[in-house]
Order: sequence, then structure tokens, then C-alpha cells
Amino acid sequence: MNGSLLEVSAVSVTFDGFKAINRLSFSIGPTELRAIIGPNGAGKTTFMDIVTGKTRPDEGQVLWGEELTRNLVGMDEARIARAGIGRKFQRPTVFEDQTVFANLLMAHKNNRSPLAVLFYKPKRQDIAAVETLAARIGLAEQIRRKAGELSHGQKQWLEIGMLLAQDPKLLLVDEPAAGMTLGERERTADLLKEAAKTRAVVVVEHDMEFVRRLGCKVTVFHEGSMLAEGSLDHVTRNQDVIDVYLGR
Ligand code: ADP
Repeated sequence: MNGSLLEVSAVSVTFDGFKAINRLSFSIGPTELRAIIGPNGAGKTTFMDIVTGKTRPDEGQVLWGEELTRNLVGMDEARIARAGIGRKFQRPTVFEDQTVFANLLMAHKNNRSPLAVLFYKPKRQDIAAVETLAARIGLAEQIRRKAGELSHGQKQWLEIGMLLAQDPKLLLVDEPAAGMTLGERERTADLLKEAAKTRAVVVVEHDMEFVRRLGCKVTVFHEGSMLAEGSLDHVTRNQDVIDVYLGR
């Protein structure tokens, strides 16, 4: 065992002759929180697409598991999700006309159809699990409210809760703090920090104050490669990083 849960090694992706990812390597431990930053076009989204199987790299490996014995390259998205990789896109995608309870129950029962849950009578242990989850994401009081009535921040937490209900080993989160109030950003950072106590969490984020609040190691992407890695203070003092952010 070498301590990593995911090890992306020298992957490249070319779109119409343009190298969007260029021999990128990245690894994360099983209970690690990591922020990925980098200017637009740096390859952050494509990186997540590779890990989740949406985009197949032209070269390189994506090794996975406690012993890094599985190569995810070529595996389809559904199988990768079942292997324990969850992804949250920037916009919340909850079932707005269903309650918080029903949304969480659906995820807890690993059921993607809100209709199926309407016909399902939850057992006591399912109810308890969903109530615990609602409290964990700060929505205990809203549990009977329709998801569509929640604030933007609360919808984001609900979706994070729906992903946590599936208990992924790795959670990829794209710009969770975008559009949130300061108070919501603080709670989101706490939620992700707590989630990373029992799984790996990768957060792609532009908001540096939010990254500071996460207080974790930061990886800087640039032109499809890793430019720098370390604490936020370390990477923001790096001259290459300063030049990239100032567009030099
Ligand atoms: P980021 O998420 O860091 O903004 P992306 O991963 O979205 O960066 O994009 C990396 C580069 O790859 C960009 O130059 C983008 O225009 C290009 N790119 C991404 N997806 C495609 C695609 N499907 N076809 C062509 N070019 C793409």
C-alpha cells in the first residue's frame, strides 16, 4: 500500500489537435481534502471528466483503489460511479418538486427516479439515516420542504448530501461556493472538511477565500499540466503561478 486512493499518471487528452491535458499527474490519499485551482482553460473540467470516465485519455493511467490495482481508463461512467467516485457539477441538480426528505431517501436507496420513491414506504432505519444526513448537511429543519423552495446554498448542500448518501470513496466537487453568501460559503467549507474525514474530496474552486477556508493542499493547473502544489501560501508565492494569474 502506498497511501494513495487515486493516482493519475501522465495522462494526455487532445481535442482536434489541441492538447487540453498534457502528461498530467495527480494523486490523492483516501481521507484527503484537495483544492484544484487554475485559470480558465487550464484543464480542470477535463481532468474531472477523465477521472469519472466521461473523457478517455489518449495516454496515461488512472489507477484506483486502496492498492491502486485498477486502471479506470476505458471503464464507462456508470461503472466508475459504482466503484465509488461521485461528482457534483456546479449547478445543483435536485428534484425541485420533491421534498428534501424524498431527495435524500432517493439517493440513500440509490434510486434515480423520484417516482419510484413515491411508491416506496421507507423503513424506520431508512428514515433515521435520512434524518441524520439532513442534520449533517444543515437541513434538518427543512426536511419536509420542497427542494425548489430552498436557497441556492441549501440546494447545493442537498446535492452534496445526496452524493454522501451513496458513500463515495472519492467526491469531486466543482465550484461549490459560486453564488453563495459568505455564511453559506463557511458552512460549505465545513461540510466538505467533515466529508473528507472519511473519504477523499477534490474541490475545483476559483474563490481563493474559500480555498483558504478549506485549509488544505492546493494543486495549480495550467495548460493541462500541474504547475505547482502545496499550501495556498506556498503556491501563491510561486513566481510561475503569479505569472499565470497575471497573464504574463
Ligand atoms: P477549465 O475547466 O480549467 O476551465 P477545461 O478542462 O474546460 O478547462 O478546458 C481545457 C481546454 O480544453 C480549453 O482550452 C478548452 O477550450 C478545451 N476543451 C475542453 N473540452 C473540449 C472539447 N470537448 N472540444 C474541444 N476543446 C475542448
